[in-house]
Amino acid sequence: MSARSIGRGRCPKCGREGSVVIKMVGGKEYVYVKHGRTWHYIGPLEKIDVNEILREPTTTLPLKETETLNIHGEKMNEETKSLNKTVVEVIALILVAVGTGILLLTIFASIILPYLVAFWSVSSVNIATGFSTMIEDTTKAYLIYSPIRSASISIQSDNAYFKILAVPLYTAMSILNATQSQELETHISPSDLRVKPIKTSEIQGLMQSFFGNYTSYDIQLDTNQALLVWPYKLQTNPASLSFYTSRSLTGSEQPQPNSFQPLSMSFIFISLAPRLILAVSLIIGGYLLYRWSKNK
Ligand SMILES: [Zn+2]
Repeated sequence: MSARSIGRGRCPKCGREGSVVIKMVGGKEYVYVKHGRTWHYIGPLEKIDVNEILREPTTTLPLKETETLNIHGEKMNEETKSLNKTVVEVIALILVAVGTGILLLTIFASIILPYLVAFWSVSSVNIATGFSTMIEDTTKAYLIYSPIRSASISIQSDNAYFKILAVPLYTAMSILNATQSQELETHISPSDLRVKPIKTSEIQGLMQSFFGNYTSYDIQLDTNQALLVWPYKLQTNPASLSFYTSRSLTGSEQPQPNSFQPLSMSFIFISLAPRLILAVSLIIGGYLLYRWSKNK
């Protein structure tokens, strides 16, 4: 007589779980379910569908060895189960953490995004450009004007001090018409700001009116205005003078607070809604997974 366990299963007799054992008696095989010391006879092997009873097929080793193996295997199973449980819990916690992270980022983004959108829409047209020129003596002034659209201008000198004089555009035009200077006028985009070198000898009448002692000067220039810049004192030779401009927004180009806000708010909501849904799903999913792993 030999007996072998073929795995764990649910007993059709009593409904409890046990080892499914096949006993060989007189050349015939019979199926039993063993609950500790209690054996329940199920029936001859050829009349029983063992697969219906079996839950976890293991080995087909002889019973004695199988029993010890089974005890060991059950321990292993318990360990695997608790390991699996831990893995599931870790995954659940990661889901909750990622969800919470996305949620916080989304809330944070929704607070700062209006500012970002506003900054972006303004800075996207404020493209600063400029040019630098060498200054070798103090006999030249620079006439700056912006006849197409108003512009903000930043003037900076290196190793030189300059004076300035604001004049109306028509004065600037008469200076331009009268000048003998062969030096080219420079156009600076995007405002189409123009810088023309003028000999100071040609604007003698204005020289007394120049004022200041600057190394840096910022001004907003309208289309009917012009600015004369005169580097009157050099510390090194050559020194340099730089002009930077950024096109300033005017009139209808400026973002209108009343129309701009609702637009950007709905834009922000639409762009953030999928992330909110994802974040909440992750948190709920992680929580449910965690509870499931605890109950198991
Ligand atoms: Zn039973």
